[in-house]
Amino acid sequence: MLRTIRTHLAWKVFLSYVAVILVGVVVLATAASFSAPAAFERNLASMGAMMSGGMMGNAQTAEANLYSGYQMSVTEALSLAALAALIAAIAASYLVSRQVVGPIQKMVGISHRIAEGELHERLKISGNLARDQLDELDLLALSFNQMADKLEKTEVVRRQLIGDISHELRTPLTAIKGYMEGLIDGVLPASSQTFQQVHSEVDRLQRLVNDLQELSRMEAGAYQVNLKSVPVLKLVKNVESRLGRQFEEKGILLVAAVPTGLPNVLADEDRILQVLINLTGNAMQYTPAGGKVTISALCEKNEVRITVADTGIGIAPEHLPHIFTRFYRVDKSRTRASGGSGIGLTIARSLVTSHHGRIWVESAGEGKGSAFHFTLPVSPDK
Ligand code: ADP
Repeated sequence: MLRTIRTHLAWKVFLSYVAVILVGVVVLATAASFSAPAAFERNLASMGAMMSGGMMGNAQTAEANLYSGYQMSVTEALSLAALAALIAAIAASYLVSRQVVGPIQKMVGISHRIAEGELHERLKISGNLARDQLDELDLLALSFNQMADKLEKTEVVRRQLIGDISHELRTPLTAIKGYMEGLIDGVLPASSQTFQQVHSEVDRLQRLVNDLQELSRMEAGAYQVNLKSVPVLKLVKNVESRLGRQFEEKGILLVAAVPTGLPNVLADEDRILQVLINLTGNAMQYTPAGGKVTISALCEKNEVRITVADTGIGIAPEHLPHIFTRFYRVDKSRTRASGGSGIGLTIARSLVTSHHGRIWVESAGEGKGSAFHFTLPVSPDK
């Protein structure tokens, strides 16, 4: 019972009303048993004095006087009770409002400070009580603090993102500026090779901006997933026809190992193709000539697991947990030179999660190849 009262504001307010009523009743009862008879006697005595002073009236007048004496006594007792109830009401409302208004005022103050950018501000929550021992205002303060935590984290991510983007933009811009200055000063020849280098830097900038736009759309969830029943073999054939020539040119073998009888997956064909092309493209990029990339699939319970495995440069264990983080590159100089922005896998993860799937990577270490796996739900209609 005590806990119910402590954790419910409604009970506290109700009990304060009960306290006020009780004080009123007690004072009224006391007044009725002590002060009312005394007042009645006093009033009677003053009437007696009036009567003995020669103001004798008839029986009717005596009755009226008695009645007004009684009324005066009751009014006196009631006034006393009302005064006591008023004092009790002031005390109770002071106590209750201290419990209710105080925390709300603090919340208003802190929310203003947070709005002004002091994101570390938090509300104090009474004692070290467990969640089920907190009242509604404490719970509100708890949610308020959680909201402030999220805001602070988002702000950190936002700042980091702006820092990352500026860093990414700075490199190609510095290179373009360098080429241009060289051309203006006549240090670099105005040859097609110089223009080609400027062009490839601009190309990289454009890819970065496109990737960023795609990433922000993904992270904001501002895209539609058009789920359909899709045969995995169709996806793999599509990848083969798009990247086959590049694999041949690089001298890497592309093998598709999709078993017959594999159920269809429930997916947005274009989006999943994007994921598969990204993983296969990466595998091609990080596998030297003479290597092999295998796209395989297998059914596990109600999921299909698709794997893109390569015999390439592999990934050291310390990099594995970060590989899906945006702008993360294992060898920054190498991938930057080859045009990677470190966003591809972040987009792939976002796309797979929007299909209720999982994506992860395995690698036995540097030089030992890598395998990227992702799952998709089996389509209910085959
Ligand atoms: P990028 O555009 O740089 O390729 P990704 O997000 O696709 O960006 O990949 C992030 C980083 O993961 C790459 O820079 C690379 O270091 C590493 N990586 C991705 N795929 C492979 C792979 N198949 N083998 C080795 N490293 C890889």
